[in-house]
Amino acid sequence: MCSTAGGSRPLLIHAVTIAWANERYTGGTYSAFAPGQVTRFWSALRTPVGPIHLAGEHTDEYWGYMEGAIRSGQRAAKAIAGKRLGRSVGPRRSPDAWLLS
Ligand SMILES: Cc1cc2nc3c(=O)[nH]c(=O)nc-3n(C[C@H](O)[C@H](O)[C@H](O)COP(=O)(O)OP(=O)(O)OC[C@H]3O[C@@H](n4cnc5c(N)ncnc54)[C@H](O)[C@@H]3O)c2cc1C
Repeated sequence: MCSTAGGSRPLLIHAVTIAWANERYTGGTYSAFAPGQVTRFWSALRTPVGPIHLAGEHTDEYWGYMEGAIRSGQRAAKAIAGKRLGRSVGPRRSPDAWLLS
């Protein structure tokens, strides 16, 4: 950090580095779809299985980022709340629509 942000050394109090690939529960990284996987699995990743709703960055148009993680949680929470209120909240538009917009 000090080499990239010149003059920051006096401001540094503590730093931690993590080898994500060695972390037991994270296992390394965020999703990275191979060609064809988005269109093949997109619907399945977002379709509830009974009472189970999938959330996580891999289920959102902004996959790979915090933004996607938060948006997916909001989507799943909305769908669950909608079910409890007797309203159906379907998946948003497909990634194709998003990529082409
Ligand atoms: C090194 C690195 C740098 C990043 N930098 C950025 C960045 O700069 N900006 C950005 O927006 N995003 C960044 N990201 C991506 C961002 O961290 C993820 O997109 C986001 O955290 C995904 O959130 P999530 O809730 O979908 O999944 P996660 O945060 O992975 O949450 C999944 C949770 O499930 C738990 N879990 C797994 N298996 C089980 C199980 N069997 N039982 C119970 N619990 C389980 C895990 O322990 C974890 O707590 C980075 C990611 C990495 C790894």
